[in-house]
Order: sequence, then C-alpha cells, then structure tokens
Amino acid sequence: MTPPPTIRDDLSLMAGYHSPQVDASVRLNTNESPYPPPAAWSAMLADEVGRISFNRYPDRQAMALRRAIGELHGVGPDQVLATNGSNEALQALCLAYGGSGRCAAVFEPTYALHAHIARITGTVVNAGERGEDFRLDPAEVRRLLAATDPAITFVCSPNNPTGGAETAEMVTDIISRAPGLVVVDEAYAQFSTWSAMAMVNDASPVVVTRTYSKTWSLAGARLGYVVAPAAVIAGLERVILPYHLDSFTQAAGLAALRFTHEMEGRVKLIVAERERITAALDTLNVKVWPSNANFILFRPGRSSSDSPEPLDSPAPSSDRQGPPSDHRLAMRGRAVWQGLLDRSVLVRDCSSWPRLNGALRVTVGTPPENDAFLVALGEVLAA
Ligand code: PMP
Repeated sequence: MTPPPTIRDDLSLMAGYHSPQVDASVRLNTNESPYPPPAAWSAMLADEVGRISFNRYPDRQAMALRRAIGELHGVGPDQVLATNGSNEALQALCLAYGGSGRCAAVFEPTYALHAHIARITGTVVNAGERGEDFRLDPAEVRRLLAATDPAITFVCSPNNPTGGAETAEMVTDIISRAPGLVVVDEAYAQFSTWSAMAMVNDASPVVVTRTYSKTWSLAGARLGYVVAPAAVIAGLERVILPYHLDSFTQAAGLAALRFTHEMEGRVKLIVAERERITAALDTLNVKVWPSNANFILFRPGRSSSDSPEPLDSPAPSSDRQGPPSDHRLAMRGRAVWQGLLDRSVLVRDCSSWPRLNGALRVTVGTPPENDAFLVALGEVLAA
C-alpha cells in the first residue's frame, strides 16, 4: 500500500494551536464574554436573517459592515477589512506582508498565534524577550528590529497572556524604528485605557486588529477586523478568499454595532470585576500581574525573584540545570489548576509555558463565577 502523502516539511514539526476544553461548570479559560449578546440584538438579527438571500453569495466587499466599523473609528471603509475572527486578519497580514524570504518579530511571552500563523505562511519568526514585568523592553525592541529587519512587527496590547497594555510612547518608538508593518493586536483594547487606533493613517505603517469575540459577546460568530492604511487593506484584499465573510456574520456584526451602549456597560462591569478579583488575589499567596484586559495572570506561590518565601517540595534531579524554584513553581501551578478543576472551575494552564513557570490565567466571568473561582482558589491554596 502506498503511504499517504506527507505534509510540508516545515509544518511537520509544528504542534497545532489547541485550547483544550474540559467539562467544568465555571469556564474561565478562553477570555470570552461571560454575558450573552443583548436579547434585542438576537431579535434584530432574527429579523435580518429572514431577509438574507441564502441562495446568493454574500456581499463580497462586506461594504455595509466596513462602513459601519469605519464610522465607529472615524475612518473610511477603504481603511477597514472585516474578517472571520481577528485570527483571519492576522493570517491575511502574514500572507500579504510576510511569507517566503520575509520575517516577523514577536516579543515573548505573547499570543502564540502570531508566531504560529506566521510560520504557517512561510514567514520566519524572530522572537525577542519581554522585560521582567512582561512589558516591552525598549532596548530589546531596538535590538531585535535592528538585527532582523522584520516585514511585520507584532505588538499585542493588552498582551495575552500577561494582561498589560503598552504605552503610546513605546508604540511610537516602535513605529519610528520598524522597517515594515507594525501590527497592534487589540483583541482586548476596550478593557484598557489606551489604544493605537488613533495612530492609523495612510502615511503610517500601523495596523490595528480587533475582534467581536470579547467585548461584543460574539465569539460564536467569528468576526474580527483590521483598521489600516487604505493601501494595506488593498494588499489584504489580494489574499482573502472570495466571499470569505458569510451573509449571516455580516448581519450579526452590523446589528451588534447598534448596541454600543450595552457593550460599554458590559465592559465596565468586567473591568470592575477584574479589579475586585485582583484585590482578592493580592490577599492570597499568589503573584498577580496587573491587567488591562478581561483576564488576569497569576502565579500560586512566589518565585525566587518575587519573594524569599520558601517552597516545600524539593526539586527533582532532572531539574538541576534550571533554577530549582521555577520547576517547583511549574509543578505547583499545575497542581493548583487541577485543584480548581476538581472544584469544577476551569482556568488556562500556562504553568509550563516559557517564562510563565507556574502561572495560570483566569478570565473575568460573572460575579457568581468569579466568587466560585476565588472560593475554590482559597480552598486549593489552603489544602
Ligand atoms: N488576538 C489575541 C491577542 C487573542 O487573545 C485572540 C483570542 N484568543 C485573538 C487575537 C483571536 O480572536 P478571534 O479570532 O476570536 O477574533
């Protein structure tokens, strides 16, 4: 029998990107909105769906939606491209501006899909390191940009999974040095105090990506968009498949823009809850990173660099090369994740991710979900 054909050599060693779903009654692991869309949005969409000619292809340009998104941000429809989630926007950017013979710069730890999508499109990835507090480090940014000449520089603000937003000064500095596009991934921007959106104009290399998955309560609809110079949007249109955005998604996105007030109300609730959880975590034996997003990164126990607090279990011999306390922190993080799951609370296990030794990421949920998380965490840490 002939063996099945093999996939591209450069893909065969890559693990796919997975966010494992485990059964739990409190799901705080994927940064979705805990609230469903407003009932009036569902009614409006039902009405719209009745008017869609499903036997016809959708509006190929998604012009009504682009115009409405443009109005939201004070730009024209030629500076907007609506996509299937913001991941498709990132993919289109890599296809059009990355690819063979070009490279992208990322600063780790950051959203894993930037590097993953870049590699799938044949773009070489050069990774720099974030600073101690997981903010971008100006010296490291300058070093990487000068050394690698990236066609695309990814800036994630607020950064997933660490939560912090970059400053206007930092992004301005990157723009002045980056030789190619500067892609600011703003999946969580509405939860933050600053956005790069005002920096987008036809004379600048800045591109901002946004999503409906978080603030707009529409992760199930798969809608995102790019706001960019018109010439960049024209470049992206060359790589997007014909009719890529279906009529239903276009209608869902248009209808959502009629509920901006409700969306802002939800953002306020989530930000207030984020601050409440952060304050509660501060009273426990965990390290908490300040967040400008709808999730919080925290680490049970404290590392050698956080505080001299001793950890109980000895490091196994296999850990002799690395800092022993980091290994124990990773083990502890995993054990706390499991303890939370045993209490039916699911958070994101980042405990074995590079530089995040032992850290967990919790999405801000409804107040009762957040209470359930805090009670469960208190029990696990006391056990
Ligand atoms: N960017 C960042 C930083 C994210 O965290 C996510 C979702 N996890 C996305 C983009 C993709 O979001 P979506 O494709 O749902 O719009």
